[in-house]
Amino acid sequence: MNTYTELDMPGYQEVVRCDNPEVGFTAWIAVHNSHRGPALGGCRVWCYDSDEAALTDVLRLSRGMTYKNALARLPLGGGKSVVRTDLLRVDRVALFEELGNFVEHLGGRYITAEDVNSTLSDMVAVKRRTSHVATVGASGNPSPFTAYGVYCAIRASVRHKLQREGLDGLTVAIQGVGETGGRLAELLKKDHCRIIASDINPAHIEALGKKIDLELVRPEEIYTVACDIFAPCALGGILNSRTIPGLLCQIVAGSANNQLQTEEDGDLLSRRGILYAPDYAANAGGVINISCEIDQPYDEKLAMRRTAAIEQTLLEIYRLADEQKRPTNLVANTMAEELFGASLVC
Ligand code: NAD
Repeated sequence: MNTYTELDMPGYQEVVRCDNPEVGFTAWIAVHNSHRGPALGGCRVWCYDSDEAALTDVLRLSRGMTYKNALARLPLGGGKSVVRTDLLRVDRVALFEELGNFVEHLGGRYITAEDVNSTLSDMVAVKRRTSHVATVGASGNPSPFTAYGVYCAIRASVRHKLQREGLDGLTVAIQGVGETGGRLAELLKKDHCRIIASDINPAHIEALGKKIDLELVRPEEIYTVACDIFAPCALGGILNSRTIPGLLCQIVAGSANNQLQTEEDGDLLSRRGILYAPDYAANAGGVINISCEIDQPYDEKLAMRRTAAIEQTLLEIYRLADEQKRPTNLVANTMAEELFGASLVC
């Protein structure tokens, strides 16, 4: 049986802990801010070393969702759930059904979805206990929408930085050609871009190589390859004081979450004259797609149109960044805070 404990976390609207020793997990749901609507964010399952590590993660991730959902102008707040367990040792169906009960306990203030180590079939189990779960309807895999949104972010960045409309002839270096990076490469190739790629998984390189022409570099070389656009589509924290000085690009725009190791790294990029597309603005296509099945029949065309609006959001961030002479990551943060009413947070 689940037991629930309310936690008092300054700056967060609601944080609840759930213990279930019979099934073998502890989970946390954090609702960071719901001024724009119910808090949407995925459910991450991880073998955390400690409860503190899990709690830190849910706080960080839910806050990030508030910013992402607000900047995409979705009628949704930011939330997240994390589960501390060992998936190899638990009854997976029982785990996700109990998680469904946990989500239901919040009465619709939090809506869940897949994330790292939780899948669509896990969400089907969640849905047996609560209706507050997205993605079990028709929206499906978010990655094509995320990739398309990043493509739109690249178009905006090229228009702003290089003062040109099309992408043909530009060189894009992509770090990670998995679900999002691979699809991004295909979209860019249709626009006659030259693709340079790196990945630590040879199967992903091979799969993409069967579809498009690409040049390969070793994982460490991707940071110093000469290109117009560097697209991080694998890991967080890769833009830092070690990598930024070596970058030979004019634009950074990719799907990876938390690309900047610290907010100051945005300033470092800006001082090097490199235009940075803030990650949570560029990679919002997946969540925009999911939002199109909440409280409405899913409409793929609408999801594509809303994802395409990422281009306008980026252009607005760039215009303000020029006007205010501030790095784009900080401008995006301020825009998001205005949109979710940060000043209202107690
Ligand atoms: P994925 O696992 O399908 O692809 C990531 C790829 O990066 C894999 O091919 C992996 O082998 C490769 N990789 C890992 N470490 C690498 C390294 N050091 N150098 C080069 N390649 C490396 O994941 P994805 O769904 O494409 O997500 C990529 C990033 O985008 C993640 O940060 C994710 O959180 C973020 N993101 C994804 C979505 C989505 O809809 N999938 C939405 C928003 C954000």
